[in-house]
Amino acid sequence: MSNSLILVLNCGSSSVKGAVLNHHTGEVLLSCLAEKLNLPDAYITFKYNDEKEVQDLSHKPHHTGAIEALMEALAAHNLDQRIGAVGHRVVHGGERFKESVIIDDAVLHDIEKCITLAPLHNPAHLLGIHAAQNVFHHIPHIAVFDTAFHQTIPEHAYTYATPYELYEQYGLRRYGMHGTSYRYIAGEAARILNRPEDNLSLVIAHLGNGASISAVLDGKSRDTSMGLTPLEGLMMGTRCGDIDPGVFSFLHEQTGMDVNQINELFNKKSGLLGVSGVSNDYRMVEEAAQTGNKRARLALDIFAYRLAKYIAAMTVANGRLDALVFTGGIGENAKDMRAAVIGYLGFLGLQIDDHLNAEMRFGNSGIITSSQSPLAMVVATNEELMIAQDSAHLAGLM
Ligand code: AMP
Repeated sequence: MSNSLILVLNCGSSSVKGAVLNHHTGEVLLSCLAEKLNLPDAYITFKYNDEKEVQDLSHKPHHTGAIEALMEALAAHNLDQRIGAVGHRVVHGGERFKESVIIDDAVLHDIEKCITLAPLHNPAHLLGIHAAQNVFHHIPHIAVFDTAFHQTIPEHAYTYATPYELYEQYGLRRYGMHGTSYRYIAGEAARILNRPEDNLSLVIAHLGNGASISAVLDGKSRDTSMGLTPLEGLMMGTRCGDIDPGVFSFLHEQTGMDVNQINELFNKKSGLLGVSGVSNDYRMVEEAAQTGNKRARLALDIFAYRLAKYIAAMTVANGRLDALVFTGGIGENAKDMRAAVIGYLGFLGLQIDDHLNAEMRFGNSGIITSSQSPLAMVVATNEELMIAQDSAHLAGLM
C-alpha cells in the first residue's frame, strides 16, 4: 500500500480538527475533532466509516495529547503507515507567504512573525505544528495559508486610506481570508463551466459562519472584503462586518466600554446574532423569521442587501462578470437568500431560475440562473481537499 494519504490539520487555541484524505479522490478515510483543549474535560471525537467514537482527553488535555490520540486511532485502522505528508491550515501568512510551503525552521520563524497580525490563530497553529512534527517526524509538513491567495490583490485595493507609515511600520493593510476556499472554488467553477480558469471573471461569495466575498479574475484574487482581520466586509454569524469607525468612540463615550469590550461586541455579539437576538446560525434565524420574528427577518434582509451591494462592488474590481458563485454553508444551502440577492442584481441582467435554485442545495453544485441571464452558480467548497492537494504536490506525492 502506498503512503499517499494526507493528514490535514487545523489547530485552534482549544481545538484540533483533523482529516485523512485521499488527495486524488477527495475521500475522507478518518476525521477527528478535539475540543475543550487546555480544560479538564477535553475530549476527541473520531469519525471512521460513518461511526463516531468519543475519547476522553482529560489525562492529556493539550494539542500533543490530541495528536497522539489521533496517531493511535490511525494505527488502530492501519492508516498510520499510509500518511505521506501533513498539511496544516495557517490563517495568516502576512506578505511573506504567497503560496503553500514545506515547513522548515525559517518558515516557522516567519509564521511566528505574523502573530501580530493573527494573535488568536497563529500561536495555536504553531503549537499544533510542533506537536504534529513530534508525532509525525518522518514525513514533510506543509503550511497552507488563508491569506496567500489574496497576495495578488493590487496595491490600490489593499491599501487602507490611513497614514502610509502605518503600512510600512506595522503591515497595516488588507490581507483577506478564506483564500484556500477561493482557490478551490475558482478551479471548480472553471471545471463545471468548461472554461479555462485563466480567462474567467468570477465574483465568489464564501458564506459560512465567517463570510467574505472576492473578485477572482483569470484565477487570481483582485479584491476581497475581509481586511487586516476577519471582521471587515459582510455581515456574519457574530461579526458586524463594515461599520463606521466612529462607532468605536461613540460606544466608548456612551457606554464606557473599553477597546477590548467593543472588539468583543463587534466580533462575538453582532452580525446575525446581534440583530436577530436568536442565533448566529443562519438556519435558526431563517426558522425564526418564518414564524414571524421581525428582528430575525431584519437580520436576513440586512445579510442579503449587504451581500448584493458587495457583489456589485466586486464586479468593479474585475471589470466584468462571467459568473457569480455562492459557497460555504449558507451560500450552498440558503436558496431564499440567493434569490433575494439575485433579485437585487437585476440591473446586471441576473435572473434566478427558481427550479434550479431549489435543486442546488446539500452539496449539489451547478447553475441557478435562467438561460438568458449572466451566470450565477453554487459550488460546494472543500478547503481540506485543497490543502491535501497542495501538500501532496509539495511532498512529491502527486
Ligand atoms: P460553514 O461555516 O461553512 O460550516 O457554514 C455554517 C453556516 O451555514 C451556518 O450559519 C448554518 O446555519 C448555515 N447552513 C448550513 N446548512 C444550511 C441550510 N440547509 N440552510 C441555511 N443555512 C444553512
